[in-house]
Amino acid sequence: MLEINDLIFRWPGQTDATLNIPKLEVAAGERVFLHGPSGSGKSTLLGLLSGVNKPESGSIRLLGKDLAQLSDAARDKFRADHIGTIFQNFNLLPYLSPIENVTLGCHFSRSRTERVKASGNTLTQQGEQLLQQLGLDPSIMARSVAQLSIGQQQRVAAARAFIGQPELIIADEPTSALDADNRNAFIELLFKEASQYGATILFVSHDSSLAAMFDKYLSLSDINEVVQCS
Ligand code: ADP
Ligand code: ADP
Repeated sequence: MLEINDLIFRWPGQTDATLNIPKLEVAAGERVFLHGPSGSGKSTLLGLLSGVNKPESGSIRLLGKDLAQLSDAARDKFRADHIGTIFQNFNLLPYLSPIENVTLGCHFSRSRTERVKASGNTLTQQGEQLLQQLGLDPSIMARSVAQLSIGQQQRVAAARAFIGQPELIIADEPTSALDADNRNAFIELLFKEASQYGATILFVSHDSSLAAMFDKYLSLSDINEVVQCS
């Protein structure tokens, strides 16, 4: 579902920050761990995958599409339709309820909305189901997100990423605020949700102890080093 070939990316005006990925292949449903210290290029790579950063040379094919060949508008639509992101700080709208935040995940994507409808559910029904599967207690559904704990907000952010079944789920350091037990439990929840429809997960973290949970390990040690995949 994802194929990178001879990718070179350089930040404009910076000769000392070049990301070089000779080869990366990820199959549908695989769980990929992206690891590296601060400044090693993780965000740069995520920007390339979402089409915000453009490669200097080489290609990134996602679901058969070469991202560099798409117009800006087509790339925005492609990202909204096919990538669900769980951000490090969640990027939730604090004054809205959990379900309002989750259904927003479909707001910019007709195809994700249509997938929900095709399942026979309304967006709200599907969102509530997801929140429940992700372990959010129904008793707090009426609160605004600002009134939730970090762990609860994290589940809302995950449900928003999964709604409408995007093929790729990007989780960008979503567990940095959790202790080890809760961190592993949250990752297991993501895996369970993804396996229900075969989503691919790209999980970003600087905590290398999590790597054993994943199928593939992608290590960035320094942005200028050639990226190795195992
Ligand atoms: P990590 O992925 O290790 O959590 P982040 O990329 O989220 O690190 O960055 C954490 C903080 O460090 C952010 O405030 C970011 O702006 C800053 N940061 C990232 N890269 C660099 C760098 N090369 N030099 C200095 N600060 C950086
Ligand atoms: P990470 O996410 O692993 O912390 P980043 O991808 O944020 O790493 O940063 C990798 C390198 O790219 C750093 O040297 C950083 O200074 C550089 N970099 C990141 N963002 C920009 C930017 N917008 N402009 C120029 N250089 C950048």
